[in-house]
Amino acid sequence: MSGAPASVLAADIDARLPQTQCTRCGYAGCAPYAAAIVAGEAEIDRCPPGGAATIATLAQLLGRAPLPLNPACGTEGPPRVAVIDEARCIGCAKCLAPCPVDAIVGAPKHLHAVLEARCTGCELCLAPCPVDCIEMRPAAPGHRNDPAINRARHEAHRARAERLAAERAREIAAKKSLAQRPVAAS
Ligand code: SF4
Ligand code: SF4
Ligand code: SF4
Repeated sequence: MSGAPASVLAADIDARLPQTQCTRCGYAGCAPYAAAIVAGEAEIDRCPPGGAATIATLAQLLGRAPLPLNPACGTEGPPRVAVIDEARCIGCAKCLAPCPVDAIVGAPKHLHAVLEARCTGCELCLAPCPVDCIEMRPAAPGHRNDPAINRARHEAHRARAERLAAERAREIAAKKSLAQRPVAAS
């Protein structure tokens, strides 16, 4: 397996990926997969959401022959979206953080719902749901995800997650420091 020519950057490849961050390529998201292609560690045949069209685009960019989609990564199909069965949702909020594009709305202990127009069909919310009340259904005709919008939403999602993690770490450190303070003699 060869890497990319020096003129092709990981960002050039990433810009041609669907940005669902679904991890079906075997990498933690589109950007890591793009980096692996540039490094010559991955073939261009691993993105089911992009399918044949993305493979053809990458092949052209890299000056290679197209390949069939690697079946180990999944199959190409019509767009699907997640739907939450509100009658069964227990409001645990475990599906919120895994959604890379913040397509799920809801507050803890309240019903959750998917904003269909935002959903990329990545399926990352399915496994965390403890009551299996999320299912994938065919998207409405005309449903389309713009990769640039997906990327912007994912970057906002990641920035917020990092900010919350830093806030939590500061709170824990403050609690520890309080607990370790010597008790004043009375
Ligand atoms: S959209 Fe394609 S490149 Fe991005 S994470 Fe999914 S399979 Fe990987
Ligand atoms: S709602 Fe589920 S399937 Fe849709 S984008 Fe979010 S995690 Fe992916
Ligand atoms: S993980 Fe499942 S039960 Fe929990 S809020 Fe999400 S949809 Fe509802």
